[in-house]
Amino acid sequence: MYNKSSSKAEEFINNEEILETLKYAKENKNNFELIDKILKKAEPVKVGKQTKCQGLTHREASVLLECEDKNILDRIYKLANKIKQAFYGDRIVIFAPLYLSNYCINGCVYCPYHRQNTTIPRKKLTQEEIKQEVIALQDMGHKRLALETGEDPVNNPIEYVLESIKTIYSIKHKNGAIRRVNVNIAATTVENYKKLKEAGIGTYILFQETYHKESYEKLHPTGPKANYAYHTEAMDRAMTAGIDDVGLGVLFGLERYKYEFAGLLMHAEHLESVFGVGPHTISVPRVKRADDIDPDKFSNGIDDETFKKIVALTRIAVPYTGIIISTRESKEIRAELINLGVSQVSGASRTSVGGYSQAERPHDTEQFDVSDQRTLDEVVNWLIKSNHIPSFCTACYREGRTGDRFMSLCKTGQIQNCCHPNALITLKEFLEDYATEDTKNAGNKLIQEKLDVIDNQTVKERLIKNLSEIEKGNRDFRF
Ligand code: SF4
Ligand code: SF4
Repeated sequence: MYNKSSSKAEEFINNEEILETLKYAKENKNNFELIDKILKKAEPVKVGKQTKCQGLTHREASVLLECEDKNILDRIYKLANKIKQAFYGDRIVIFAPLYLSNYCINGCVYCPYHRQNTTIPRKKLTQEEIKQEVIALQDMGHKRLALETGEDPVNNPIEYVLESIKTIYSIKHKNGAIRRVNVNIAATTVENYKKLKEAGIGTYILFQETYHKESYEKLHPTGPKANYAYHTEAMDRAMTAGIDDVGLGVLFGLERYKYEFAGLLMHAEHLESVFGVGPHTISVPRVKRADDIDPDKFSNGIDDETFKKIVALTRIAVPYTGIIISTRESKEIRAELINLGVSQVSGASRTSVGGYSQAERPHDTEQFDVSDQRTLDEVVNWLIKSNHIPSFCTACYREGRTGDRFMSLCKTGQIQNCCHPNALITLKEFLEDYATEDTKNAGNKLIQEKLDVIDNQTVKERLIKNLSEIEKGNRDFRF
């Protein structure tokens, strides 16, 4: 039976409820009175000085996903953009993945690191190699990383991950520093999540891959990840252990996207219901080509138009959750998605183990093919010239604004007074330390324009002071 507050995976991601939802969505796909009501419910509203949004339930959002009317699609895109502007402004947060090890004992059929793949070289970074990778990332200008490892208790035990996090935080090369380490490792125990929390991780990210239990079991035939319930309940264990910020994700292409979309929103509703805080982020990767993986073998692949609609509806349904898009996607589709609700992008990613410290992008241990191959300076330049503020901000985590504290600031709209100046501060640091001349000029012009729109005089004055301190060589200011 469906129960969003249950601790059992099959009750909070309930198959019958998803099937009922899809049926209800189909029956109402042309019920324009209902659709209009749903769209109006999702509109941002002004309450005093603050802007608020209610979001949508999985049923409501599924009706919009099912609707094929062009005018409605147009309204969906406009609304997604409006919500994005209301809560995230023009800011786009930038991060990079860091692959520590591709040893893995699981059998995931869509990932080249699966155990049965004997052609891919296996590699695990030493602490010295991690140091070289981090220096290379810092020299590009990165401040925020997402750690990635396969699941292997012998080669990548939790102690290895913890030691690696410590190494990463300890490296200060020139003006560089990694200020937030998010972690994407296999589902684990409450005890291990507590250790990750103590190590100072940012977000704990774990992709569900698919919410469809039967497909999940077929796609994960061997290894500990084959246990659907243990994997699906991982976020509950992480939050029980005190990790406030968790990141969900579906690998689109594995199952029917309408099923996944409903499951993803039900997962968010479950966390909100049990812990009072929804997911911090949602990632929306699509299956990509890699070593022994052919994406054409997966019959549920989605085209760009469907993908855009999913992103826009995610923005509308969970307005306070960040949406992440990686370099799996091309620069063209990324350019469209940042106007439909995406709030974080990876930049200059290398998806191989030890890829950053090598002059040429290595392909031998790549987890997936990178579509957007621009340098970080090129990504920053592109964002600036499309009137977005590239942000390397990590302030909330460092100020202890995580979980419900973060969400309550977010929901009362007060976060705006932090995000905007922090984005400008961290962009200024990038321009001073890592940018090419063209990016620096364009960035400084953008900072001036975005400074002019701040009407809170106290914030503005403090920001101007911080920016001038950065020009003098000082670093790490934050609101
Ligand atoms: S998806 Fe993760 S768990 Fe599965 S094979 Fe790849 S690295 Fe291993
Ligand atoms: S101030 Fe907080 S929410 Fe805003 S960009 Fe920085 S870390 Fe994110």
